[in-house]
Amino acid sequence: MNVFDKIWHRDGIAPDGLTFTNWAGNQLSTPAEIATPTTEAALAQVVERAAATGRTVKAIGSGHSFTDIALTNGVLVDLTGYNRIVGVDGNLVTVESGIRLHDLAQRLATHGLALPNLGDIDVQSVAGAISTGTHGTGLGFHGIASAIVAMRVIDGHGGVVDFTAEQLRVGRVGLGAAGLISTVTLSCVPAFWLRANEEAMSIDRVLAEFDDWADTFDHAEFFWMPHTSAALTKRNTRMSTGPATVSKTKQLRGRVTSELTENVAFGAMCRLGRAKPELIPKLANAMVSGGGSRTYTAPSWEVFASPRRVKFVEMEYAIPRETWKSAFSEVRELIDVIDEPVNFPIEVRVLGSDDIALSMASGRDSVFIAVHNYQGMAYERYFRGVEAIMKRYDGRPHWGKLHFRTAEDLAPVYPDLSAFQTLVQQLDPSGTFRNPYLDRVLG
Ligand SMILES: Cc1cc2nc3c(=O)[nH]c(=O)nc-3n(C[C@H](O)[C@H](O)[C@H](O)COP(=O)(O)OP(=O)(O)OC[C@H]3O[C@@H](n4cnc5c(N)ncnc54)[C@H](O)[C@@H]3O)c2cc1C
Repeated sequence: MNVFDKIWHRDGIAPDGLTFTNWAGNQLSTPAEIATPTTEAALAQVVERAAATGRTVKAIGSGHSFTDIALTNGVLVDLTGYNRIVGVDGNLVTVESGIRLHDLAQRLATHGLALPNLGDIDVQSVAGAISTGTHGTGLGFHGIASAIVAMRVIDGHGGVVDFTAEQLRVGRVGLGAAGLISTVTLSCVPAFWLRANEEAMSIDRVLAEFDDWADTFDHAEFFWMPHTSAALTKRNTRMSTGPATVSKTKQLRGRVTSELTENVAFGAMCRLGRAKPELIPKLANAMVSGGGSRTYTAPSWEVFASPRRVKFVEMEYAIPRETWKSAFSEVRELIDVIDEPVNFPIEVRVLGSDDIALSMASGRDSVFIAVHNYQGMAYERYFRGVEAIMKRYDGRPHWGKLHFRTAEDLAPVYPDLSAFQTLVQQLDPSGTFRNPYLDRVLG
């Protein structure tokens, strides 16, 4: 069994076993070689050998990026076996970069610790997640990379580099360009629980109240179903303790938002909408008509993340918090006029400002607007239309989600882009870690 059978078998591996397909099935590459190092020394050797023979190198996490950021025709480095916890010192936990977030979350729980915040899924590797600025929601919180207080990378010639404080600030969201990440030290928090309140309500009410929720609740977000006047909302409150005994399945079964993103019935409706686009508005209304609400309490990582069984493609933009309502209403207007059927919800989240050079929330409190379409449906006109709107609001695209931006037009929204380019030049002057995606966004 090779690496592809282990990780991506279900996501479309060609019979030759050498074709990588991402989770969404919209990106494909054929690496010349696969390396599976399980130690730092072996990791460094892979890079050194590749550099000496002029091959490029790309580490892969769990293949959950929608962009071509993880593609390579050179050496693909699978870090599935490089996944240990190296040390725990109080709340500081050092891990090898291939560890998956769900594995990490469970192991942290045994130490009474947790990651401060998580996104919607937890199957990513820690390095894959931080490299694209992966985030959840919460105005008082940040993306996963913000938890990193130390980081060790392999440079483009195979040398081991411990990041200085400034390199860490610039390179923590590194797009796979700022060295091959070996280990990271995360500043964790005491394990906590979340009281989740999930409720369907009118989009008008959400528009009126979301800013208050962002200020009041630890983690607020909503999903609006295009062609309907309904939204599904999630408002989570952090708690230091929870119920004495919890059956996870019992607690989580029937979550309102599951209806949209995980549910089998939702998948069937998406398929029907893809086959008969004229039915999409009707199907969307049927989907959200059930309404309902649910409150439950569970350990943080179980509430933050959930499985995504219905496949889709996605674009997500971060814009200054104060502008989100008018940007959102422009997206609604676009959906009304565009002749490309939209068959998947729009997700809206919020995040506090941070200081990481290429973080989407760098220097500003941000609202994230994510648009999707069901797998196999046209999306380019829709996404390009949304991107044009977001550009007018100084939007920053998620690095792991589809976008059409280039270094030239990203520079104005990332004041630290040139500092990042300098770091990349220092760490990888010969371009060992480059691929076409990096050429496009870094120039
Ligand atoms: C269903 C679904 C739900 C999602 N939900 C969210 C969400 O809630 N919030 C959010 O922000 N994003 C979300 N994403 C996007 C996802 O979190 C990011 O694309 C993330 O980067 C994927 O992690 P990965 O481990 O799959 O990395 P990959 O996609 O495999 O790789 C991403 C990048 O990391 C690099 N990389 C991996 N390992 C290393 C290493 N050791 N050293 C250097 N570079 C490395 C790769 O080379 C590549 O450049 C979602 C994606 C999907 C498909």
